[in-house]
Amino acid sequence: MRLDLPDSICFRITRHCNARCGFCLAPTDGETADDATLRHRLDWLLSHGVRSIHFCGGEPTIHPALPDLLAHVRARGGKNRITTNAIEMSEPVLSALRATKTQVKVSLHGDRIHRNRMVGCDAFDMTVRNLHRLIAAGVPTSVQTTVVADGTWVLNWAIDFCLGNGVTRLTVLPFLPRGRGHHRRDDYGFSFAQRSALQDLVKKKRCALGNRLDLRWLNLTACRIHVVEVDGRILLEGPTEARDDLVGKIPPMMDASPTESLNRR
Ligand code: SF4
Repeated sequence: MRLDLPDSICFRITRHCNARCGFCLAPTDGETADDATLRHRLDWLLSHGVRSIHFCGGEPTIHPALPDLLAHVRARGGKNRITTNAIEMSEPVLSALRATKTQVKVSLHGDRIHRNRMVGCDAFDMTVRNLHRLIAAGVPTSVQTTVVADGTWVLNWAIDFCLGNGVTRLTVLPFLPRGRGHHRRDDYGFSFAQRSALQDLVKKKRCALGNRLDLRWLNLTACRIHVVEVDGRILLEGPTEARDDLVGKIPPMMDASPTESLNRR
């Protein structure tokens, strides 16, 4: 049976991360995949109709194969996107992002004190420095901000930060109670009314900003997205793990008869 995959898919290359965000959707579990396995999976996805690979994790920039994987996708005619905390940005990674015209989303969740508290490490300055390096290198770079219930002030901060730092797109992601966030839902979770109020505020700000800033609302409570996990499973992920479906699994390299099971959880 042929899988019906989207044009764009999230592709986890590691669950390791150099941060410890309290709202992490895919927290560290020690899993990572090697270069050859990841190339094979990319080939498989691109031969099954996927055109755009969204590298994510964990933190994709700390996987040593990332530059080669970005180049591999481009050489096969695909497009790359990546979401990163930008705490580390080696020269090979920066060069590969530029050479492969990868669209980069940098996670930045508020000012120094708030952001460091949210990500569990003192990394604000490193992220901002690397964001500036990306922009200076001509890499298309936007900001993504996770907003939690008691931190809606972050919206104004993020807008001002983007306007003052040459960032032309800001995506607002309201907190989701999955991953590590499941255990922090009492601290960070929105009521329906709070979420609606924030969404209305984003709409008003978007109108007021006009073409100065492309302000977006990423509503993952209303949709599900395809994600390739580090073990090769393809999941249709919802706002909580209970609403995930297993779509199939990318066959391992030596398997001559791929199984594309449609096991439902
Ligand atoms: S949200 Fe991103 S940066 Fe934060 S711990 Fe999870 S993978 Fe790492």
